[in-house]
Amino acid sequence: MIFDTIVESVLWGKSRANYILLESVIDAVASDIKKSISLNRCPFCRRPFKNRRSLKTHLTHSKICSDRYRLSIKYTVDIYMYIRRYVTKTSTSIAIDLPGMPKIRFRSVKELAKWIKPQIRYIASEIQDKF
Ligand SMILES: [Zn+2]
Repeated sequence: MIFDTIVESVLWGKSRANYILLESVIDAVASDIKKSISLNRCPFCRRPFKNRRSLKTHLTHSKICSDRYRLSIKYTVDIYMYIRRYVTKTSTSIAIDLPGMPKIRFRSVKELAKWIKPQIRYIASEIQDKF
């Protein structure tokens, strides 16, 4: 799935500017996972690894940690996709029109990402039942 790849590339430090909104979501709901990965430590069992490659093998192959890793990515992607649904772009602006909130316009995705970051945990708890 394409978004797993995107989340992984952001989580694993190969970030690109066009993933800025996704980065805000990751910082809000998966910052501990991102930090653990940067320290070559499993975010779930806390086991340290010599390098990224062996950590990645552990996170994709060990039974318990790989399940938790996959679920964490799915959770992050679901929140991102939910937010993304309410974002509209024009040639000059970007707007978000979340349910129960007034429509807000921004000049750039960077501004939008900055605005939404402190609210992502709240949005996530609001929509959790729908997943
Ligand atoms: Zn582990």
